[in-house]
Amino acid sequence: MLLSPKSFLCFWLAFAIAALGLFAPAFAANTPSADSEYVGRLAEALQLLSAGDCQSASNAVAGALEHRRNERLAYLVRAIVLLRNASYTEASHAFAEAGRMGAEAELVAYGQALCALGQGKLAQAEAALKQQGARATASELRLVRAYVALLRGDKPDLGSLPAEDPRVSLLRAYASLNAGDAGAAVGLLETAAEGPPPSHLLDQGAAMGFHPGAPILCTAVTPITGGEGSGSLSPAGFLGKVRLRADRTKAPGAAYVLFYVDSRLVGIVNTPPYELVWDSATVANGIHTVRIRGEDASGVLVGETSQQVLVANSAPEPGPPLAGAPAETLLDAAWDALRLRGSRTWAEYELAKQAAGEGSRLDAMLRYERILAFQPRYRDVRQRFREVSRWGSGETVWRGSGADRGVALTFDDGPNGGTGSLLDALKECGASATFFLVGSQARRHPELVSRIAAGGHEIACHSESHRSLTDVSEDDLIRELFGPIAAIHEITGAPPRLFRPPGGHFDSRAGKAAADFGLVPVMWSAHCGPYEGGAVRTMEEYTASKVTAGSVVLMHNCEPTTLGALPGIISNLRARGLRPVTVSALRK
Ligand SMILES: [Zn+2]
Repeated sequence: MLLSPKSFLCFWLAFAIAALGLFAPAFAANTPSADSEYVGRLAEALQLLSAGDCQSASNAVAGALEHRRNERLAYLVRAIVLLRNASYTEASHAFAEAGRMGAEAELVAYGQALCALGQGKLAQAEAALKQQGARATASELRLVRAYVALLRGDKPDLGSLPAEDPRVSLLRAYASLNAGDAGAAVGLLETAAEGPPPSHLLDQGAAMGFHPGAPILCTAVTPITGGEGSGSLSPAGFLGKVRLRADRTKAPGAAYVLFYVDSRLVGIVNTPPYELVWDSATVANGIHTVRIRGEDASGVLVGETSQQVLVANSAPEPGPPLAGAPAETLLDAAWDALRLRGSRTWAEYELAKQAAGEGSRLDAMLRYERILAFQPRYRDVRQRFREVSRWGSGETVWRGSGADRGVALTFDDGPNGGTGSLLDALKECGASATFFLVGSQARRHPELVSRIAAGGHEIACHSESHRSLTDVSEDDLIRELFGPIAAIHEITGAPPRLFRPPGGHFDSRAGKAAADFGLVPVMWSAHCGPYEGGAVRTMEEYTASKVTAGSVVLMHNCEPTTLGALPGIISNLRARGLRPVTVSALRK
């Protein structure tokens, strides 16, 4: 039994107590190689951020801090990571900290404005939008101010903004919708949402939320969790005095709770609420491991948890700033990660509502699918998708009734390099099959997806990234379900309703999510997996003995044995009066 890592609390008790001078200015000599490591890790953090991976970006910043402990850019990038994680209060503290460390004032002020927007503080955001510079130029600031004014219900002069900026089209669309002119808005929104998105990420950055209650939309596809296992970090880093608390309900037998920092015992507590106030300024800035142990009255261990934390107190003084071309390149990348984006999510949402109202069901579905694949909690998108799809509820398929002697051959894990030969083999045999595709691969090989559809085969989903659906977050579960639906719908024009969970891992939570949307889970009654790495003959013998009318046969898209066995399997089926059909045909 473990003490829950989530029980691990940190409060920003007192900035003032983050005592200056309590720890030594421990940065080593700023050697050229330390600098290049530092720059590399920060560039990596910004790169990870563009994929929405805040957790890894946070770890990369922590890695950079090991090379330069008190240089402004790491603090600036850390603030941006927190902003993108939608941790607006922590991000605001971090921008202030970056400012104290000498980060560029224009970026700090711009970041503070976005933090204020994230907290719905429009007046505060306007006040922060003053600092001009090489990046946050006058016209950039004017545009963001116009956005804030629109949210406040004012009518800013949009004519003076650069018309070629797609964000300006969105501002105009919002103004048109508010004025009741949906027709004018649609054209502007279509420009913003033109073409399929390059990935499942509709928005990559802090995006305009177009809602006074949610002025910006920051989506972390991999949010900073702060406590899952040992590679993770607390969102903001610890500052000053923090309160560590053990959740004793996870280890009821614990009589004593022992707190360690880097293997050094910092306190023992034997009374509720089993917490300890620890001054993080007593250790150097950087990564430390906090461990909490519960022991019973005789000193026997009954529970233990540990977590890496980033301690980030004010440095005694800013270190020598990184300068020159590497610093400028990083600042450009930081600005790119920070700059307020238009929102494709919002454009898709408004266009979907419009399409649904006009009876364009598939168009509306595709736009909702894209949002569900990216931001499953966006406004009322779940409800709207259910209404427009009218998919109702679907029961799990293990096999068909067999009434018409049909057998469903199914191929998982494509499309990939083996898809072409598999399609050729099926064509040669004149057989139809069902392909369970992985969304990310479908996006990489749209031409193969089109070929499968053109061959008369059925296309179904096998998650976005082939992760197990039983150990992902609720949001990621929906993303895994809808990523391939959106990708396949974009390519073939039809949304697949059938899906197979990777590895067959499926639990009641995943079942409920699928049922909520009317998706149909497809399992199998014959599993060729154990034979696909062996001899062709053995696989043929297995299917000949196992497959009967109504069977769903699981095979994989990339196995040479499967390719070799396919003609024999199909001729054996036909010799027994069975017909290879798609899963949908089998369900009828
Ligand atoms: Zn699979």
